[in-house]
Amino acid sequence: MAAGAFSTDEAYAAGLDEVDPLAGMRGRFHLPRGAIYLLGNSLGLMTAAEASVLRVLDEWKAMGIGGWLGGDPPWFWLAERIGEAAAPLVGAASDEVVCTGTTTFDIHSLAGTFYRPGGGRRKIIASAADFPTDVYALESWVLLHGGRREQDLVLIEPGGDGFVDEERIIAAMTDEAALVHLPSVFYRSGQLLDIERLAAAARERGIPIGFDCSHSAGIVPHRLSEWGVDFAMWCGYKYLCGGPGAPAFLYVNRRHFGRVPALAGWFGYVKERQFDLLPEFEHALGAGGWQVSSPGILGAAAVQGALGVICEAGVEAIREKSLRLTTYLIELADAFLAVEPYRFRVATPREPGRRGGHVALARDEDALRIKEALVDRGVFVDFRPPDLIRLAPSPLHTSFAEVRHVVRQIMDIIDTRAYERVSRKRKPIS
Ligand SMILES: *Cc1c(COP(=O)(O)O)cnc(C)c1O
Repeated sequence: MAAGAFSTDEAYAAGLDEVDPLAGMRGRFHLPRGAIYLLGNSLGLMTAAEASVLRVLDEWKAMGIGGWLGGDPPWFWLAERIGEAAAPLVGAASDEVVCTGTTTFDIHSLAGTFYRPGGGRRKIIASAADFPTDVYALESWVLLHGGRREQDLVLIEPGGDGFVDEERIIAAMTDEAALVHLPSVFYRSGQLLDIERLAAAARERGIPIGFDCSHSAGIVPHRLSEWGVDFAMWCGYKYLCGGPGAPAFLYVNRRHFGRVPALAGWFGYVKERQFDLLPEFEHALGAGGWQVSSPGILGAAAVQGALGVICEAGVEAIREKSLRLTTYLIELADAFLAVEPYRFRVATPREPGRRGGHVALARDEDALRIKEALVDRGVFVDFRPPDLIRLAPSPLHTSFAEVRHVVRQIMDIIDTRAYERVSRKRKPIS
């Protein structure tokens, strides 16, 4: 890094931008006009998705049903091909990942497959800080097996610092536990769990463990296979830029390829014999076996296009810049925003190794209205109740100068009391 020790000067930010090896990627993204977009953790911006969707539309126009085998690549294998391309992002073998379903659907499919309560083992270990859909889905499986939420769903609480201690999760891995399901990165605090350590602890105790990598896929490299993680799933529309409601991904460790998928469907069939259309289900021996329906080729094409850009940049380089951006943001927040009258507190771990791609800033009062005032000024950030503003600088299109500008905007909104002119009413999405 050319720039020296941290400084709040504009020149320091400019120095960081000058030596940024990923600066050239910005031109590949469609930025809303005049905006600073810090919501790649929620909906990634459009990049090469467009060209890829147009390609499939052209194939459909020209070939009709012929695209299933005649498309380039053929639609019939597209979900597996995209899985193969995404596998290096999470450190999986090419047949351990497939692009399919949606995040919540894939949680159902994998919880159904791996949660097999029996004997004294009935509990699912998750976290109270989980994204709610994960907990809703897990509860469904407890109920489907005749259990009760209060008894069989163990939700580990964050400690006084707002973070979830791995030690406490491991302590819950008793001989009553039948499944562990956790996020790689918590959606509010941005805390990154020690996946390797948790997977090793679960393995020692004979408990299957899975991770929802929605907030890490494409921004934090993993080594899921090597760490022995049993299963995982993640979103296609956050850091992976696959577009609103894009298909998701699932990963199954190869030692489980022989397991019967809980939610069977004809697209999970052994590919060579799928069109024999036999009545007995013979599932493919790979993550592809967990597919259910015909893949939505248009949505998958969008994911495929975006993935090309992300893989071109490389997840290691993405992580490196991401940590520099979030470190800079935290340093600025400490220097400028911790004092009166700003009163923000960094609610994300300061250790780089415990952090995902975003930074959460907490403020006891008016966080929602400050966030709305930022959006009015073209700064895309979001609010998570009761007191958090989340900021996710993208290594692929956010500059250090923009990060500095955002911090100055927050100060200005408070200095001029601009937020007091914003309604207290929450919009349906905030
Ligand atoms: C974004 C996200 C989801 C989204 O679920 P969908 O089924 O895609 O709507 C689920 N879990 C986590 C942890 C997320 O961050």
